[in-house]
This record gives sequence, structure tokens and C-alpha cells, in this order.
Amino acid sequence: MAFPIKTCVICHEEFELRPDKPGFANRCPSCSEPEESAEPQVRPSSDYAERRAQLEVAAARRKAMRDLLYRKDS
Ligand SMILES: [Zn+2]
Repeated sequence: MAFPIKTCVICHEEFELRPDKPGFANRCPSCSEPEESAEPQVRPSSDYAERRAQLEVAAARRKAMRDLLYRKDS
């Protein structure tokens, strides 16, 4: 099976552009690798999870405080 030959924009080496090649289509596999690990793909989701966890903690705290107040009232 023949894949299209592309020239890497980083090192200007020719490489086969495979459909399952990770990283950028205009970069050879060896130049895609460091860029891939630096890609902020995981960060937004972890930030979001962290923010959600903080919100959940705050909500749980508020609920606990409210429960305490209700218990004091009754
Ligand atoms: Zn390259």
C-alpha cells in the first residue's frame, strides 16, 4: 500500500503520510512526537475536572452548613 510522500516542515525530510500517523500531517513522525506530548489536550479536561471537584466540595460544604443550621433551628 502506497502512502502519499510529504515533506516535514520541521526537518524537511520526506515521510509517508499514513492515515493513522499521530500528530500533524505536515510533520514527520519523529518531529510529531515531542509536539504531541506538549499538546495541551489533557490540561483543559483536568482543569475542568479540578474546577468541578472544587465546586462539588463547595456545594457539599454549603449543604453541610445548611444541615447544621437546620438542626440548630429545629
Ligand atoms: Zn521531521
